Amino acid sequence: MPETLHLPHGSLELPEFLPDATKGLVRTIDSADLEGAGVQGLVINTFHLMQNPGSSTIQALGGLHAMTGWPGPILTDSGGFQIYSLIRQNPKYGSLTSKGALFRPDGGGRKFNLTPEKSIQLQIGYGSDLLFCLDDCTHVDDPYPTQVESVERTIAWARRCKSEFKRLLTEKSVPPEARPLLFAVIQGGGYPELRRRCASTLLEIGFDGYGYGGWPLDTQGHLLVDLLGFTRSLVPAELPMHALGVAHPANVLACARLGYALADGAMPTRDARHARLYRFNLDPADPAARLSGEWFSFIYILDDKHVKVDQPISPYCDCLLCTRYSTGYLHHLFKIGDSLAQRLATIHNLRFMAQLTAHLRLIK
Ligand SMILES: [Zn+2]
Repeated sequence: MPETLHLPHGSLELPEFLPDATKGLVRTIDSADLEGAGVQGLVINTFHLMQNPGSSTIQALGGLHAMTGWPGPILTDSGGFQIYSLIRQNPKYGSLTSKGALFRPDGGGRKFNLTPEKSIQLQIGYGSDLLFCLDDCTHVDDPYPTQVESVERTIAWARRCKSEFKRLLTEKSVPPEARPLLFAVIQGGGYPELRRRCASTLLEIGFDGYGYGGWPLDTQGHLLVDLLGFTRSLVPAELPMHALGVAHPANVLACARLGYALADGAMPTRDARHARLYRFNLDPADPAARLSGEWFSFIYILDDKHVKVDQPISPYCDCLLCTRYSTGYLHHLFKIGDSLAQRLATIHNLRFMAQLTAHLRLIK
């Protein structure tokens, strides 16, 4: 993988994990907290923003960077995952045609139409640094005909996304240094020949990078390591790949070892809000530390054993929580349900992820 990804609002050192700021924020913390935790970039969700606050409001507020007070790189997903999570799971939430996706997010009268062109227009309008082509996401266990349809649609939509992307950059006379990147997503479910067909056609069309598409876990919740590895092997090593939705620390490590430059997800921040904190069992700043076996653990901070612990959560962590407050104090904050508990825990788990990827860059 490349060492660095240069984007209009800064560079990402690779590999890197990016937290999901789904609706334009990482819940419970602000952009200064994100910087303090060493976060390099965010992934924001096109589909959610299109509904609320809506693209005209985002543009009136100066685009995503000005609106969120986040000066660094912002990646926007295309809305493709919502095709999977809403429409493919339950047809009352919309329908899919060759033109695009029609969402009925409440299952009723409210309608949103998302075409490949519209997805690119929205992402460019938001001021995104890295855009994804609209894709048709599936589950690995979906049947073969569904996977064939998804690959054909994903390729056709990627072609349309690229031409709309080029058209808009020309129309807006975007200078080279301000040009965002465009990634396409490789679908194909669990069928290697479909993955190969999807990857080779997308490579012929030509994109700045590629995403592993489809739900990355099997029904038991295990990472689809072989499939992720195979899909990575279909794309030249010098082109960056993003493992979409991969966020468990062990899975982020596994994907980086497979050659994925980027991963993103909501798990570390969701876990933090639910009192689940991550802790290294070894010093991640030590290049000789081997991340194998039990290299990290989960702490459930509401357990009674933490009541009187006067030490920080982790001796290896330099986050706001660990440098200033004890484990027992965080337990108390969670126990009384104060929002400070969630903020401090979220900062800590994001710092853990940043330390993890810093370690991976150290040993690369
Ligand atoms: Zn910490």
